[in-house]
Amino acid sequence: MDQAENVDCTYHVHSSYNLEPVGRPSQQDVIPISALGPVLIASPHPDDETLGCGGLIARCAEITCPVSVLSMTNGEGSHPGDKAWEENLGNIRKLEQHSALETLGLKKPDIISLALSDGGLEQLKGEMYKRVVAVIQDVMQSRRIRTVFVPAIDDCHADHRQTAHFLFEAVSKFPKMHFFSYQIWPPAVRSAQVTASEMSYCLNISDIVCVKRRAIHQHQSQLNPINTAHAEGFRMPPKLIKEKLKAYESYALVRDLPAWCSQ
Ligand SMILES: [Zn+2]
Repeated sequence: MDQAENVDCTYHVHSSYNLEPVGRPSQQDVIPISALGPVLIASPHPDDETLGCGGLIARCAEITCPVSVLSMTNGEGSHPGDKAWEENLGNIRKLEQHSALETLGLKKPDIISLALSDGGLEQLKGEMYKRVVAVIQDVMQSRRIRTVFVPAIDDCHADHRQTAHFLFEAVSKFPKMHFFSYQIWPPAVRSAQVTASEMSYCLNISDIVCVKRRAIHQHQSQLNPINTAHAEGFRMPPKLIKEKLKAYESYALVRDLPAWCSQ
């Protein structure tokens, strides 16, 4: 796994500092990362930002493009236990996330932790839902966010899909916001309506795969048994890690947000 795999973008990569359109040899569709900032990455659980966008975060750090991470939950549900244990685990995962972002090059990672219930985002309705949207809008406003990266709307994990819904709702106040998605747990078959509303991009990270690997390894609680009492909890599947350590990261620019989000 130490060897970066070959880039399989169908479009020749001009620069490691551009999001390159996949399958469309048109220079005008190329998006320099420097044009995206300030960037907000919405992460349902501490580690999604590293797995999905670690290379992008490292590039932003390199060129001092401001990047903030909106951490929806503390990920305390990965190894279920009593309340005290889960609070402790949530704190461990927050520290792991901080270390991962430092490893990616952010000197003082800007992490906004909403500490919502892991596994419970879909249950947030009515006033609570509106309150979360308002908090996200405040974050966007205070940091003058221009681009958001959110999990795919058809991700298999409900917290991931709901994170996308929250961000969709929040950007209604910011009509000029660029909206990208990244995929962690893809569905067996992607919906035609979703893919029709997106444009695929890739980012060459072949020279920094090793940095991303080190960052993923900061999430130790998700890689190895934490202790014998919680040996049965979640572990990142090797297949997922391999997928996320390819020489490029995949993103989709969402062109038709209402169509994308009506899934
Ligand atoms: Zn997740």
